[in-house]
Amino acid sequence: MTNSEWKASYQDNLLGVFGRPQACFTHGQGTRVWDTDGKEYLDLLGGIAVNALGYAHPEIVKTIHEQASRFTHVSNFFTTPQQVEAAQAVKKICAEGWGSGRQAEIVSQARVLFVNSGTEANEAALKMALAARPGGRAIALKGAFHGRTLGALSLTYKAPYREPFAPFVGPTEFVEASVAGIEAVDPEDVSAIFLEPLQGEAGVIPLVPEVVAAARQLADQTGALLIFDEVQTGMGRCGKWLAHQGICHDGKEIIPDVVTLAKGLGAGVPVGACVAMNLRAASALKPGSHGTTFGGNPLVTAVVARTISLMEELDLPTRAAKVGDAWMQEIADAQIPGVKATRGQGLLRGLVLEKNIAPQLAKALFKAGFIVNAPAANIIRLAPPLIIELEEVKTLIPALKEALAQVELDLEKGE
Ligand code: PLP
Repeated sequence: MTNSEWKASYQDNLLGVFGRPQACFTHGQGTRVWDTDGKEYLDLLGGIAVNALGYAHPEIVKTIHEQASRFTHVSNFFTTPQQVEAAQAVKKICAEGWGSGRQAEIVSQARVLFVNSGTEANEAALKMALAARPGGRAIALKGAFHGRTLGALSLTYKAPYREPFAPFVGPTEFVEASVAGIEAVDPEDVSAIFLEPLQGEAGVIPLVPEVVAAARQLADQTGALLIFDEVQTGMGRCGKWLAHQGICHDGKEIIPDVVTLAKGLGAGVPVGACVAMNLRAASALKPGSHGTTFGGNPLVTAVVARTISLMEELDLPTRAAKVGDAWMQEIADAQIPGVKATRGQGLLRGLVLEKNIAPQLAKALFKAGFIVNAPAANIIRLAPPLIIELEEVKTLIPALKEALAQVELDLEKGE
């Protein structure tokens, strides 16, 4: 069948929550993917920040083959070497970026719960916070995106996502992503403070250390758990293992109580993790108070452990920082008409457009063989595989110029 026929058939068979698919893909290799008509695309979105190692990485293929030939699932009545080793690897990367004393403390106290997605990681973190300090409300930032299941959705800001499903199980107060916004919170009855170190869905907006410090202070004052959602920003994407690592304010390290991970954690297998970073968070959920059938099964955890070791071998966080900075410099030097600025970190970047034409531009780029997306009307998000070469990402520049000119032309013609 052709690409158009598959797309039509999709609509007859799948629930329409994702809208009409842009293409039907058959396979990928490295940073590229092909559709059923044989057309090739350069993936500058990485399956929305998931495919850190690109498509069909031979080591991941080998790990999946080997693990599938042993077993893929055993239930959480049991454990496996894969699960324990993956937890050790996750703890190690969660401790990176701090002084050696602090690293040792995190490694000895942190505990990992594997789940199946980012939203589930945040559900677990919310339950952890409610268990640690029962009955309080959650604080989240305006613009936040924490997922679509009901607990995580209660922390997600965008009205069209939330409002049809309100009221939620517990109250959430949304505050401005500013020091004043956080300092204005009434400290009575707060159980959880959620933040993304860099808001991806809101348009690739990094938080400043002062805001993160204010959130830490509020958590200390109220007894709430401070939860950093690193679902999108983590796993090397922002140039460090986790985007918050090394954040200091007034000489003090700002360390969260809980970190949530997913996306790049499993190189494309569905996995998330809720990491309790200290003893208080780690002891909040008791046996039986949370669980998931598939969470942490040997297939996904074998992949998690290999993903992390490969990322270490290839030094992908450092590489993401280098390639991302060089790419943005090239874009700035190219002075592309219609592109006002760039923002973000590592290989999670936003192009800020002069006009609200990002959805049309993303479509035009797709036609030209580049996958990007438009999280806001004037923002193009770039989150390619972390293995991508500068020479590859640079090819976006002439394509961007052409696509912008085409969109302008279409607008003039009223299309
Ligand atoms: N948190 C953040 C910051 C995200 O970007 C996302 C997804 O985009 C989620 C949570 C939800 O993750 P998932 O789609 O795996 O449920």
